[in-house]
Amino acid sequence: MKLFDAMNQHGHERVAFHVDPATGLRAIIALHSSVLGNALGGTRRWAYADESEAIRDVLRLSEGMTYKSAAADLPMGGAKSVIMIEKGKVPTEAEARAMGRFVDTFGGKYIAAEDVGVNTQYCDWMAQETNHVMGGETVSSGGDPSPFTSQGCFNAMKACLAHAGRTVEFSGLKVAVQGLGATGYRLAKILREHGATVVGTDVNPAAVERAVKELGVVALEPGKDIFAQECDVLAPCALGAVLNHDTVKHLRCAIICGTANNQLHVPDVDGPSLKQRGILYGPDFIVNAGGVIRLAGLYLGMTEAALDKKIEQIEHTTAAVLKEGKNDPSEHVAAVNYAKRRIEAGRKAKAESKQPAMA
Ligand code: NAD
Repeated sequence: MKLFDAMNQHGHERVAFHVDPATGLRAIIALHSSVLGNALGGTRRWAYADESEAIRDVLRLSEGMTYKSAAADLPMGGAKSVIMIEKGKVPTEAEARAMGRFVDTFGGKYIAAEDVGVNTQYCDWMAQETNHVMGGETVSSGGDPSPFTSQGCFNAMKACLAHAGRTVEFSGLKVAVQGLGATGYRLAKILREHGATVVGTDVNPAAVERAVKELGVVALEPGKDIFAQECDVLAPCALGAVLNHDTVKHLRCAIICGTANNQLHVPDVDGPSLKQRGILYGPDFIVNAGGVIRLAGLYLGMTEAALDKKIEQIEHTTAAVLKEGKNDPSEHVAAVNYAKRRIEAGRKAKAESKQPAMA
């Protein structure tokens, strides 16, 4: 991969690599944009096949964070970090502290938080070395943002139903959820509380068992594909790239609205394919912004009431993006345009404030 070309093409400001020989830490921080402010983005700890895969991931995820924060109207930029591990390597305090020292070199322009493979404990370990971490419970603050992500997704689902011309009513609705982990379980819980039927699946049998037992979720029959389930709403809450050449043609849902990041494998191809099939797609970074709103909002000093309101607003943002995107090739394009407009307005305002006053 030609890193400078990729950075130029996608507008990344800074990418930093770090090795800590004492702990074996190998990490990358990508700051995509600081136009609107400092950038909060999770740290992903993952066994990547090779360096190129890790670089591609951090570039893609950090760009996504810029759009997510901008569309949520947060005065924040976009960044993300990844830690390359050997499969099965257990997280340690020493490794997390080494990561914390790396985060600190950004002097607050990058604020780390949890992502796949990083939990509240890991955030607190990192926070022993830097003030620029959110999402912990003892040394840093904010805690696990996933309940807020799920609530925001539920709010977005209401906007999707309304946009599709349906009654915004969950009883009688069938929702298929892929992934019953932190966000998928909570989303299923909210949906069940509102009377929806939830069909769920997870590669972890214990997660399915818990959701069946505690929530009355219907387990997907063995051997069946969640993406071929006939349902009103499909909620991808596990991995990215699940809407792709193979899955899109089998879908039998009216709406897609889930918490997973980067759901479209090739946005320019799979976004329009969904639209051509008449399936309404709730753009992932609009729908799943509840977590970043929570942690960035706390970082910015917002009150609980203001945070709740902002997570409620995800419904209105989703509605606005879907409305604007009626004539766009996909809802994803509409969402990116929506976010880019906000970033451009921020850039202009910043430039104007730097102009010397007229004598
Ligand atoms: P999680 O690890 O708690 O849950 C994911 C679940 O998906 C796990 O139970 C896992 O076993 C399951 N899973 C993995 N592969 C699967 C497959 N092929 N089929 C079915 N199940 C599978 O993670 P999470 O925090 O719930 O995050 C889920 C997604 O939402 C991720 O893409 C994440 O980036 C995104 N997201 C999370 C948050 C948050 O606040 N946690 C915020 C924004 C976006």
